[in-house]
Amino acid sequence: MPTDEYDPEMGRKFIFVTGGVMSGLGKGITAASTGRLLKNAGFDVTAVKIDPYLNVDAGTMNPYEHGEVYVLKDGAEVDLDLGNYERFLGIDMTADHNITTGKTYQHVIQKERDGDYLGKTVQIIPHVTEDIKRRIREAAEGTDVCIVEVGGTVGDIESMPFLESLRQFASEEEDGDVLFTHVTLVPYSKNGEQKTKPTQHSVKELRSIGLQPDILVGRADDKLEPATKSKIAQFCDVPDAAVFSNPDVPDIYHVPLMVEEEGLDEYVMERLGIADEALPKAERDNRWRELVTADRTGSVDIALVGKYALEDAYMSIHEALKHAGIECGVDVNILWVDSDEMLDKHEERLKDADGVVVPGGFGSRGTGGKIEAIRYARENDVPFLGLCLGFQMAVVEQARNVLGHEDAHSAELDPETPYPVIDLLPEQYEVDEMGGTMRLGAHDTDIDAGTLAEAVYGDTSCTERHRHRYEVNPELIDELESEGLRFSGRAENRMEILELTDHPFFFGTQFHPEFRSRPDRASPPFLGFLRAVLGELDARELGNEEVTA
Ligand code: GLN
Repeated sequence: MPTDEYDPEMGRKFIFVTGGVMSGLGKGITAASTGRLLKNAGFDVTAVKIDPYLNVDAGTMNPYEHGEVYVLKDGAEVDLDLGNYERFLGIDMTADHNITTGKTYQHVIQKERDGDYLGKTVQIIPHVTEDIKRRIREAAEGTDVCIVEVGGTVGDIESMPFLESLRQFASEEEDGDVLFTHVTLVPYSKNGEQKTKPTQHSVKELRSIGLQPDILVGRADDKLEPATKSKIAQFCDVPDAAVFSNPDVPDIYHVPLMVEEEGLDEYVMERLGIADEALPKAERDNRWRELVTADRTGSVDIALVGKYALEDAYMSIHEALKHAGIECGVDVNILWVDSDEMLDKHEERLKDADGVVVPGGFGSRGTGGKIEAIRYARENDVPFLGLCLGFQMAVVEQARNVLGHEDAHSAELDPETPYPVIDLLPEQYEVDEMGGTMRLGAHDTDIDAGTLAEAVYGDTSCTERHRHRYEVNPELIDELESEGLRFSGRAENRMEILELTDHPFFFGTQFHPEFRSRPDRASPPFLGFLRAVLGELDARELGNEEVTA
């Protein structure tokens, strides 16, 4: 358990990032990009995301409102921004790196109920703010620099206790150990002039709660004009050199290159007093730049058959496909196929695709379309990757269309099905609290030698992140495996990976490999899938008798 003690001698550096004017300015990406450059310069960097909402975690949140729920290795269900930090910084984070109002209040209220406050009146200041500061310090432990991003916009009621905590935090640390960065919008007037007034107002709001930004980053279509920078500097009381641009770039992976070009990383190191400890420029890690600027030869079209017509709802899948594309040297275009409307409208798009991905999900809406898409991929030898619900629907498709059990289904989607190929395990039926049966986080899978799964992973085991309740029904395995489908990865009686033996690439995983994919370490199932799309991998030609056993 975390302690309330803190050693002020540790000398860590903190970068606090707030947002102004409006949300959705990409301050997380700017922060993660700055962190990446510090890492390239030899520093150990971590990040904390503060989400001022009242939810304890993102587990119950609808992807339509908040984008995908990202899963960490310890099973924490968190905001998708943590995925960006993991991908940009190349680190594995934990539940402690996502602080929410719900989490903090729950802890403080529990302590109050336990009598830990010894009869004191429990208040936002100091009890909640102390708890927030403790969490930040603990998450930063063992690193050189910790980036703390406050979600939302300055002025939101919910973020007040967090901003007050940051104010206290800064005054408790040594001068020069904490930097405040404020990211705002710089809009254009009708005649194309960059307007600084919203930034000025937003900084005024920050100052009214005792925070003076050290660095301002202006989000605009183009770079900020020198005159715009000067004006912001003058009105916000920072040197000209502390104002940076954050213009549009073709892809978020280009943001670190842009931040470097602007010199934000150097300025941060200078202000934090760590410039002398940074690696000389010629010795810095250059892999990121090489990866994102490498030549691509051609492109492929991948159908993503899901129910949320919102890119953020499948963010990690988009990213994982991109990583596989980087490794294979091709661009990956995603053709969105709405599983709800697939049969009427989107079938053509499926046919235009070079490969089909069916992602995870909950609930029955759109599952008919997903099953049809899987059938199409299976019958036409089109490479297929099924993830979690997509894996489960591949089992249902096999039972219905290959084994002839027309009513086969998942008990989650049709509790009355006479042939529940996907079901809760018996012990799970005993736990009825909502969420109580969810299997979360990193678990090991044993992989059979000589299978496509082994070829994909290059190993006979893998560790991937999970988020599901239902499993392949262990009583039906023999029949399910009787016509070319094979469960090539298992965790005791849980089926983790499936493949077809007479198809170029038909691969499903009960886990979510997308959460471990990184720009410089593409996820094996995504890489295998893309190689199959490019004709470089064919399960039928693995040259191993056991594959077709
Ligand atoms: N709804 C399915 C289950 O709970 C799949 C979950 C998912 O795709 N993340 O098992």
